[in-house]
Amino acid sequence: MSSEEVAFLCRYLVTSGNIVGRIEMIGWSRYTLATTADVMEGKEHIHDNGILAMIERARGILKSVYGYDAFLPLQQEVIESVLGGRDCLAVMPTGGGKSLCYQIPAMMLEGLTLVVSPLIALMRDQVTQLTQHGVPAAVLNSSIPPETYRRNVDSIQQGKLDLLYVSPETLLKPQMQALLAPVPVSCLAIDEAHCISEWGHDFRPEYRQLAEVRSQMPQAVCVALTATATQRVRNDIKRSLGLEDSNEFVASFNRKNLLIRVVPKDKPLQVTMDLLRRYPNDPGIIYCATRSHVDELCAELGSRGFSVAPYHAGLPDGERDRNQDRFVRDQVQVIVATIAFGMGIDKSNVRFVLHHDLPRNIESYYQEIGRAGRDGMEAECVLLFSYGDVHKVRHLIAQKEGMEQRAANLQLAAMLSFAESEVCRRIPLLGYFGETFSEAHCSMCDNCLAGNLELSDITIPAQKFLSCVKRTGEGFGIRHIIEVLRGSRAQKVLRFRHDKLSTYGIGRDLSQKQWRQVARQLLHKGFMVQDPEVGFLTVTAQGWNVLRGMETVFGRLDIDDESEIEARENTQDQPSALHKELFEELRNVRRELADASNVPPYVILSDKTLAEMATHLPRTREAMLHIHGVGSIKLDQYGSVFLECINEYCR
Ligand code: ADP
Ligand code: ZN
Repeated sequence: MSSEEVAFLCRYLVTSGNIVGRIEMIGWSRYTLATTADVMEGKEHIHDNGILAMIERARGILKSVYGYDAFLPLQQEVIESVLGGRDCLAVMPTGGGKSLCYQIPAMMLEGLTLVVSPLIALMRDQVTQLTQHGVPAAVLNSSIPPETYRRNVDSIQQGKLDLLYVSPETLLKPQMQALLAPVPVSCLAIDEAHCISEWGHDFRPEYRQLAEVRSQMPQAVCVALTATATQRVRNDIKRSLGLEDSNEFVASFNRKNLLIRVVPKDKPLQVTMDLLRRYPNDPGIIYCATRSHVDELCAELGSRGFSVAPYHAGLPDGERDRNQDRFVRDQVQVIVATIAFGMGIDKSNVRFVLHHDLPRNIESYYQEIGRAGRDGMEAECVLLFSYGDVHKVRHLIAQKEGMEQRAANLQLAAMLSFAESEVCRRIPLLGYFGETFSEAHCSMCDNCLAGNLELSDITIPAQKFLSCVKRTGEGFGIRHIIEVLRGSRAQKVLRFRHDKLSTYGIGRDLSQKQWRQVARQLLHKGFMVQDPEVGFLTVTAQGWNVLRGMETVFGRLDIDDESEIEARENTQDQPSALHKELFEELRNVRRELADASNVPPYVILSDKTLAEMATHLPRTREAMLHIHGVGSIKLDQYGSVFLECINEYCR
């Protein structure tokens, strides 16, 4: 970038967000940036070491500390915003790399970065990781031993820390406020910011009071982070924290490395065991709806020799924590859990997530599958689906009332729209988060992988169906419409005299199952909508175009279920160069290192990093630095041990 361009950028930043004033306050003047007036007047004394230098430094830290070559989507934008002193909201999916967005600025800014998070295990993990990376960080919450607490307080007072993690309860305590009063806080990072919103799925009243804490440190730039994307929650966060409306970054929710499948729940135990056998050495999570379900499944699998442990709120605390710990440390392969499991676990090598029962809603489903494949390598998510489960959920919903019942119905409808989808699963899934998935095929879901990728022209059946919806007065559900189309003599059809309609019996050429398939596609493509409470269908404006012959409908008719996965497995590009034996060996070495320093294995290096080593076989320190996830610090700490192992193998 030329200095003119830099000047232009600065001018833009100044006019758009008055940031130069803020920059100077947080010490950006170190970077030969001229005063506001100079920039505005075009007398820019700006050399290429303004914003660009900052980003270059950030990129340097990304490589040297974390060992990554490039930022993930929006990380750079958020980091720029924070360094520029502009408050912002960052919405990124789980695994999207939110923590780096405040960790890297924390290392660059003078003063303390205060990180608020409700997840104690996650804070502990992150501090361990940062300390491993040589970054001064500490945590304060009610669960740490008194000596550690005192030591951490000392470090804060002596200004030794870059990052301090606190729970909201701790932060709100008067003695904490007193402790922080004289400390220059340069950044306030609010993780899991959706907890501030009553519309979110995890509202925490303490979070409401963070607005006040924030107002007490006006010099600090505020970055709020969340993986919850609905607009309502986003607005709530911005309003509560007083963030400027425009400054939000919303990353795509598409996790490309997740293979998404929905499988009929005919033989759940068999499907579960098949899945476990396909991943004999890899960690996985199985979610069940109830505690008793967890216990039963765990017993079944355990008695068949699988390495499983249960996790639910009914277990004694000690046992529950121990099971989680064993899972995190790769000492038990699979955890069988209720939804309570996984919040705040940063285990990046989870290779599969199985939903044994229907998830409560798309939001929790998305969060739960989000715990798979956080290292970016392929991971598989399987949902066992049955109408029996749907029935159970309906039954529960019927016991609710008013708004709550309505909301639950809408959530179930969204879940069904995903589970019954005939098109790419990513369309309804991302659609729920307000994102349009524009590619026709993701090639990472069961529907896209199904052999007959060619969609056929289903305009005629579509017209028949829509026209029958119209003719019956838009006051009926799918089943009734199909009966009319197929010329049924059912009571209800006769009672409404629907046997007299012109559409009566015009659909005998397709089976009931095929008509259901047509109906679902019409709903997904928005040609008709369904009332979530009573199930009545209504033709949309777009549907009218189909009826008038102005739009062609492409879709699928009749599919068989399971064959596609096998087909995929046979054609899948195997990571041919991966030396499996070496990979396992490297994992053993890592486990030893982890046990020796009493940390979870992924804190040392991720599976992805080990897989790259086992593929590219780096034999020198130089070559090692090119491996994803190896920065100079990790190289110094562990390089020689892994190099030795690789050299040994090559010999
Ligand atoms: P989130 O908090 O959004 O769920 P994390 O911050 O825990 O995500 O990051 C998820 C994983 O991605 C971590 O293992 C992290 O080290 C890794 N990661 C973060 N940034 C990058 C990057 N730029 N390149 C590669 N991996 C990254
Ligand atoms: Zn797909």
